[in-house]
Amino acid sequence: MTPWLVHRKVASPNWDERTLPITMAVLHYTGMKTGQEALERLCDPEAKVSAHYLIDTDGTVTALVPEEKRAWHAGKSYWRGEADVNSASVGIELVNPGHEWGYEPFSDDQMVALMPLLADVIERHDIPRANVVGHSDIAPARKQDPGELFDWERLAQLNLAMATPSARIALLYDNPGAFYLAMERYGYDISDGRAAVAAFQRRWRPNRIDGEIDGQIGGILFELLLERDTGHAR
Ligand SMILES: [Zn+2]
Repeated sequence: MTPWLVHRKVASPNWDERTLPITMAVLHYTGMKTGQEALERLCDPEAKVSAHYLIDTDGTVTALVPEEKRAWHAGKSYWRGEADVNSASVGIELVNPGHEWGYEPFSDDQMVALMPLLADVIERHDIPRANVVGHSDIAPARKQDPGELFDWERLAQLNLAMATPSARIALLYDNPGAFYLAMERYGYDISDGRAAVAAFQRRWRPNRIDGEIDGQIGGILFELLLERDTGHAR
């Protein structure tokens, strides 16, 4: 933790020891009516949930769990072969009521607080950009956060996340299986195919989230894999 990026510390009891080095960052929304309610829940021993950082709508950054400890934000999840995402990641919660309580755009203050915090986390742990993910990317059948209103492009402009490919080429894979395998290779859990496609769309093509494979998301996935696997991004 870099002190000047954090405004206050509120210790959450909800953590244990990591069993893996940090190689990922996971972004969430809180999905509760208020920031205060979210903070209380993230510190409630009964709730058994936490994150390393919480960012309120006014940009206040609260550190809850030391980065070297394993916070409990990912739940049952999977990314690039790893099922213990909590052990491998830093978790950042953004206050937002979410789809259940009135999903709203993330405030500029929140984004302005997130960007240097995330940049610092990425740099200190040398996290590959392809491993800066949303909760829905790692738990597609259960989660929708941070959701389609989250401005991934703003992060990508600062090289804090993979940029969304232009998808100039539409690409239909020979069959759905080939598409799912390509998604798996990028990192997604494909055990629920429709949910995985919807999660992919929420992140990479948020103006149409229908769970259906089409040529545009095929092109996007192909470009993402090329970009990552040829080493232009990691
Ligand atoms: Zn979440």
